[in-house]
Order: sequence, then C-alpha cells, then structure tokens
Amino acid sequence: MSVGVTRSLDDWYRTLNRIYLDQNFYRDTFSIFGHLTEIVGGLSLLGSEKQKPGVDPLAFMPKAIGWWLALCGKVGVRSVEDMLWAKFPYVCSYCQQAPHLNDPCQERKRAHRGANWESLQQIGQTNAARRPRTLGAWQKRTQRWRRRGQGNLRRHLPCSKV
Ligand SMILES: [Zn+2]
Repeated sequence: MSVGVTRSLDDWYRTLNRIYLDQNFYRDTFSIFGHLTEIVGGLSLLGSEKQKPGVDPLAFMPKAIGWWLALCGKVGVRSVEDMLWAKFPYVCSYCQQAPHLNDPCQERKRAHRGANWESLQQIGQTNAARRPRTLGAWQKRTQRWRRRGQGNLRRHLPCSKV
C-alpha cells in the first residue's frame, strides 16, 4: 500500500496547502472556486459516460481533490475530516442508510428540505469507531455507502487512483 493511501486526509490537506501556499496566497476565494468548478465540470464526463477525444476524465479526480483542499484552506476549514464526517457519518446524509437507497433518499430529501444535521451528529457519535483514518479508508467508505444509485460514477472511482 502506498504512503498516499495510508496518509490521513487532514495530513494531505495541511501538506497540500503548505506546498501551494505561495501560489494560492494571492488568489481570492472566488478564483480558487472557479478552478474547482472547472475541474468538476471535467468530472461530469464520468457521470454521463460521455467521451471527449484526448480527455481522460479520471485525470480530473486528483485535481478536483487538490482544488477542493485549496478552497477549504482558503476559507479556513480546520479539519476536512471533521467536515466530511459531519455530513457523511458512515451513512448517506439524506436517507441515513449505508449503502444509500435511492427512493427513500429522494423522499427524505423532499420531506426535510436537505440533511437532518442534528440526527447526523448523533449518528456520527454512534459511529465514531467507524470513522475513516486514512485517505484510502475514506475512499473505500464513500464507495460502500454510495453503492446504490451512483452506479456509473462508482465504476470509475477505483480506490487506488487518488
Ligand atoms: Zn441516500
């Protein structure tokens, strides 16, 4: 297993922001968000399964993570792991199931107009022992709870590629 997969996500977060501090220091939040949006647009090829000549959509994944970490650094997020766990405490943030179930998820989203943050906080405390500790574990966890309803995207996100 490579160091990249065994390293914690927060360690990646701090390291990447330290490495790119000189380049990103003078960029404003909207500039970084613009780069992230552009890269995520390339990722949409994975979801739609469209192909563009000479474009490898998987190449957008590490760039998207890098720009997301830069944006989090720019707005002062203390811990990206805490932020992710608050929304995804081993369950889908809407249907609160693992794996995610599409139909109940859509119904619950409509009924609650978004995630139920109080409930997610309680689930996060209950599932604390299941919280991923490495980047590789976060990737595997994400694949597991999003198994249903995201078939096309999941097929394109092997856990060892980031
Ligand atoms: Zn769901």
